Amino acid sequence: MARPLLALNWKLNKGPAEAARWAQHLVGRLPEPLPADVAVLAPFVSLQALADALNLSPVTWGSQDVSEHEKGAYTGEVSAAMLAEICCKYAVIGHSERRQYHGESDETAGRKVKAAQRAGLIPILCVGEALDIREDGRAESHTLGQLDVALREVEVSDPKDLVIAYEPIWAIGTGRTATPDDAETMGVAMRGFLNGRYGAETAAKVRLLYGGSVKPDNIAALCGRQDVDGALVGGASLELDSVVAMLDALA
Ligand code: PEP
Repeated sequence: MARPLLALNWKLNKGPAEAARWAQHLVGRLPEPLPADVAVLAPFVSLQALADALNLSPVTWGSQDVSEHEKGAYTGEVSAAMLAEICCKYAVIGHSERRQYHGESDETAGRKVKAAQRAGLIPILCVGEALDIREDGRAESHTLGQLDVALREVEVSDPKDLVIAYEPIWAIGTGRTATPDDAETMGVAMRGFLNGRYGAETAAKVRLLYGGSVKPDNIAALCGRQDVDGALVGGASLELDSVVAMLDALA
């Protein structure tokens, strides 16, 4: 089992000043030894503040999206190379909120994964089904179908170069969490898909996260499963106390 990754998705919260204060406080409260890799996924404008505050700490940072383009006439976009320049380690790609509010598709996600990898960022590719699809018994085929399209042209020469987050849409921000069995079942299915696409050695090592209403009181049970290598956390990532409590729970 890989060392867990606790990925903190702040969504549209915390500008640079608050991010800097929060990060300084986090560094002062990190348990030793740190039981997981920790990444703070902040709004673009707050990333430099995180880079300054976390630079000498074991905590890493990353973006919540990235452009599929390298440069040019793409108003409002931020390239992977720009993110790499401020030492981002990760970029979240294909989050369900990007898909819902910005029309992002699996094809777009695939191009963004490739753009991130070209610049040396680790993509955290998000997939997962809506409630009606789960109730129809199609959660697995839907989620693996998303992976199939998004990863169609993606090479994985080192398993560290890809993280996949299974985030059932019905569990995001709803307080309704998948059971550890649900998360593990999808983890096994995704591992099987990766095995077919990239071979057993890579499949065994790509980190598979679960996301959807993860909190201090459920993180240990979810991440205790063989095919759940960490968590992507939204709401519970905003309060320092709950982040410290999640790290304690993982210890
Ligand atoms: C998320 O934003 O990816 C997420 C899982 O949110 P929450 O933890 O609030 O459900």
